[in-house]
Amino acid sequence: MSSIKKIGVLTSGGDAPGMNACIRAVVRTGIYHKLEVVGIYHGFEGLINNEFEEMSSHSVANIIQRGGTILKTARSERFKTEEGMAQAWENIQKNKLDALVVIGGDGSFRGANALVEKYHFPIVGVAGTIDNDLYGTDFTIGYDTAINTVIEAVDKIRDTASSHSRLFFIEVMGRDAGFIAMRSGIAVGAEAILIPETKTHIQDLISLLEKGRRKNKASGIIIVAEGDDEGGAFEVARKVKEKFDFYDTRVSIIGHLQRGGSPSCMDRVLASRLGYESVNAILDGYKGVMVGIINKEVSFIPFVKSVKHHAEVDKDIIKMAHILSL
Ligand code: ATP
Repeated sequence: MSSIKKIGVLTSGGDAPGMNACIRAVVRTGIYHKLEVVGIYHGFEGLINNEFEEMSSHSVANIIQRGGTILKTARSERFKTEEGMAQAWENIQKNKLDALVVIGGDGSFRGANALVEKYHFPIVGVAGTIDNDLYGTDFTIGYDTAINTVIEAVDKIRDTASSHSRLFFIEVMGRDAGFIAMRSGIAVGAEAILIPETKTHIQDLISLLEKGRRKNKASGIIIVAEGDDEGGAFEVARKVKEKFDFYDTRVSIIGHLQRGGSPSCMDRVLASRLGYESVNAILDGYKGVMVGIINKEVSFIPFVKSVKHHAEVDKDIIKMAHILSL
């Protein structure tokens, strides 16, 4: 029999579509197991400011389809300080929490891990980030919705690109990771996909575009992850245009559209499952781990490992994307 009677749940870092479905699953699974469940607003900032609220089955009704997070999210500089973390710990004790579910990205797991190590407090993490950059799960919550938003937008841009014979450089999110760029780039049939994980050679890109021109390609789409080593879409477009100005060139930044919107079916189901499994993991005595799904099976990866071993883009996929664009 578990000694856990009361758990908290918070969302932290960048918001991602599907976080609400996960909160709903945590709350309802907790209630099913006769636990008290408390929502904490504004991530770690809310732990420090004591923004705790009792949750009921009803308080998570009608949110599974909503983007964003009803618990709000924040990036908290104070939580990184000793005083901030001590204040958070005091509030955890004051509110008699026995465990916590943290839904967020790698930064959030670093923060959660610091709390686990310092106070031996049980925390289980769920990967909620559109970036899909965490080691230990095939997909993170929000990634599928984000790439679907990207392909919808790029398909529309492609229509105008081909009508006007234009070359578009389209920037998608991904400061450190190219997953959004790679998957959406394949899905839209991009001429090239530039990601932070591989070195970009402007001359190679120009050769590719020249080859396309010789084959009478009337338009083109280049997907650029914002963290590419040659710069964002504006920068790359400028460098290409300096040496190759055959096409009328345009730049488009998809931006925060990628974070919003109703979560896809895949994200809703993934979020529900991960939220459900996170509460089961707490009751089974796990702490300091991220719950993930690998090949349909539930997996538990220590925070330290999920953060340190940044997920890698598959080299075969990179090769395939290149071959298919020729
Ligand atoms: P996303 O991947 O969507 O950006 P994230 O979870 O990586 O989400 P971050 O802003 O990197 O977002 O991290 C969220 C919060 O986690 C930070 O604002 C900070 O409060 C906390 N955090 C990050 N690193 C640490 C750390 N080393 N110690 C304590 N807290 C940390």
